[in-house]
Amino acid sequence: MIQLAERVKALSPSMTLAISSRAKAMRQAGLDVCDFAVGEPDFDTPEFIRRAAKAALDDGKTKYGPAAGLPRLRELIAEKLNRENNLPYEPEQIMVSTGGKQGLFNVLLAILGDGDEALIPVPYWVSYPEMVKMARTRPVYLPTSEETGFRVTPGQLEAAINDRTRALILNYPANPTGAVYAPEELSGLAEVAAAHGIAIVSDEIYEKLIYDGAEHLSIGSLGQHVFDLTVTCNGFSKAYAATGWRLGYAAGPEKVIQAAVSIQSHSTSGANTFAQYGAIAALEGPQSEVERMRLEFEARRSLMVEGVNSVPGLSCAMPGGAFYVFPSISETGLDSMSFCQRLLEQEKVAAVPGIAFGAEGYVRLSYATGRETIAKGIERLRRFVGSVGP
Ligand SMILES: *Cc1c(COP(=O)(O)O)cnc(C)c1O
Repeated sequence: MIQLAERVKALSPSMTLAISSRAKAMRQAGLDVCDFAVGEPDFDTPEFIRRAAKAALDDGKTKYGPAAGLPRLRELIAEKLNRENNLPYEPEQIMVSTGGKQGLFNVLLAILGDGDEALIPVPYWVSYPEMVKMARTRPVYLPTSEETGFRVTPGQLEAAINDRTRALILNYPANPTGAVYAPEELSGLAEVAAAHGIAIVSDEIYEKLIYDGAEHLSIGSLGQHVFDLTVTCNGFSKAYAATGWRLGYAAGPEKVIQAAVSIQSHSTSGANTFAQYGAIAALEGPQSEVERMRLEFEARRSLMVEGVNSVPGLSCAMPGGAFYVFPSISETGLDSMSFCQRLLEQEKVAAVPGIAFGAEGYVRLSYATGRETIAKGIERLRRFVGSVGP
């Protein structure tokens, strides 16, 4: 019998995937499911991007490309980061990867080692702790709550740092809470990280989905000393509704990027070649589709938040970005797993338990779905919560 390695024994299977596959199976069986468990935009990738990838495919762009990504794409990503994010990266500091996820993973493998510690704010995106563990590093959790807007404070960061701490993994707008940091909060965190020389791995995949007129601020732009310690991770999945394309990128100090590319060269060899031509079109072309989708998400956010808060026993704050709300379910008396299982079986509404993100007492509801589904799902939630009682 084949024995499994220690590193996988410590892994937790993705609970988000378990719920969504159950929801998918129910839908395939003809049941009318309101899916609030989705983690991807429901829109199609804009047509001009699809056309560019098709043309590249027909044009024979079907061979291996450079492991770090197509030179033109790295150049455009560097220009984008300079122009929009105030991050003075050169093309040599960019790695194109198989989704934002692969970029993050390669970077973490490049900077974390045996016995190191990495700091992860809670609630967290499900993959951070598992990636850190696969790098044989210990995840150290920084708890946040609804009262603090699900944001970590500089004091919390300071208290968690010791001489084994190598990195802080930051994600904003955040999955699952939608939390966004104010400029002064970011600079507080940046100064603590810089004072201790720890890396900041900043996952900015939701940067385009930010609301109430706010503008995304990249933590790496807060001065040269912060820039030098930051790796900025991003991708095309969320902004361009392109999750299945598997295209993302990481930008950081050249030494780190070279190491991450080296890992990439021995694992995936790099991102899909013809898909990268689509990404070139995405960055060269008009950004009006991105804005159109953002506006629709903003309208849905209001529907979702008003809806949730109209259900006695549920409450949530107005998130600043992404496409999730993270209401407290503590008044229902159910733990988050039972809440989601019973909600799916009883009312055919899919939601993700907070425990999957390290936060018991909450659930994640995605509004990356049509307005009618949101309205219908809220009514089902009302009936469900009413049936369980406090
Ligand atoms: C979706 C997501 C990613 C990356 O997704 P890819 O499809 O791999 O680009 C990264 N971080 C967070 C928090 C996400 O929600």
